[in-house]
Amino acid sequence: MPVFPKYLTSGQEDELREIANAIVSPGKGILAADESTGTMGKRLAAINVENNEENRRRYRELLFTSDKMVADHISGVILFHETLYQKTKDGVPFAKVLQDKGIIPGIKVDKGVVPLAGTDGESTTQGLDGLAERCAQYKKDGAQFAKWRCVLKIGSHSPSYQSMMENANVLARYASICQQNALVPIVEPEVLQDGDHDLQTAQKVTEQVLAFTYKALADHHVFLEGTLLKPNMVTAGQSCSTKNSHAENAKATVQALSRTVPAAVPGIVFLSGGQSEEDSTINLNAINTYAGRKPWALSFSFGRALQASVLKTWKGEEANVADAQKQLLDRAKANGLAAMGKYSGDIHSSAGGESLFVAKHTY
Ligand code: 13P
Repeated sequence: MPVFPKYLTSGQEDELREIANAIVSPGKGILAADESTGTMGKRLAAINVENNEENRRRYRELLFTSDKMVADHISGVILFHETLYQKTKDGVPFAKVLQDKGIIPGIKVDKGVVPLAGTDGESTTQGLDGLAERCAQYKKDGAQFAKWRCVLKIGSHSPSYQSMMENANVLARYASICQQNALVPIVEPEVLQDGDHDLQTAQKVTEQVLAFTYKALADHHVFLEGTLLKPNMVTAGQSCSTKNSHAENAKATVQALSRTVPAAVPGIVFLSGGQSEEDSTINLNAINTYAGRKPWALSFSFGRALQASVLKTWKGEEANVADAQKQLLDRAKANGLAAMGKYSGDIHSSAGGESLFVAKHTY
């Protein structure tokens, strides 16, 4: 008889399950504010604000000190390492500001994408060395969940077997290490929107990538009830000439997920992936109203689609902070409703239908 040594106690499993369930409680999702210093530089450059530590701090203070009503729709915030250790101008650590609102701090633990030799421009994600020690420290410092992003691209020769295998495996190793340190791993295999492929191709590739991912998670004995999945929504490539309806995107997305994601996974929190704020919200709503079987919560973990209007309104000026915070509350409310399939399309934003697509996007 085979023996499977249990590496998590039932107490550890209970803790992970509880955190994961709290993050995807009805009508709530995640604000992904974990842009690395370089990525934040690009966001700030777009509003003519210098990328220095103080400006990054001021911006994150704006996000985290917005009205406590934001916590009705935002259950967790993903932070970058620097941000976890920053404070408000009055000296309150950001982690505490969030916890006091009932929002769970999370942390990006990957160290970015690197080329995968022998492929046609594909990548893997690095950061496993020392990960256990970093996770243990982040847990002590208030984080309850983590994020690791892998990237897969659609091309004539991709994603390759090599890249699907490698990215699935590194996600599973990361997930296992997080769980041993009481952090819920958000497993993020992002199939990029880059390209002119159609919706059916995006669906098939997403199914393959997720099938590899869940095989690897099973191989590494990851406790699925204590994980969350952060996938792309299934949409046609950014430069595809056919534009699909939100209902078509929703059907392709739910079909792909239902064929590959075990029902033991408590929730799926989509990335926005370069879709406009409006499209992200309307697609999420369509996914939740789609009639197919959906055994998991279907919510959001948006970066660009929760922050584009905020940045546009803020422009680095103190005088605009309150208006920018109102934009965040509006987007959070709209997406919270969409996560329950109750969004009626009436909460408008200043970035609205603007595309947030960035070619070969990094984080
Ligand atoms: P976007 O919603 O901007 O795609 O980013 C979410 C994220 O955290 C990607 O890792």
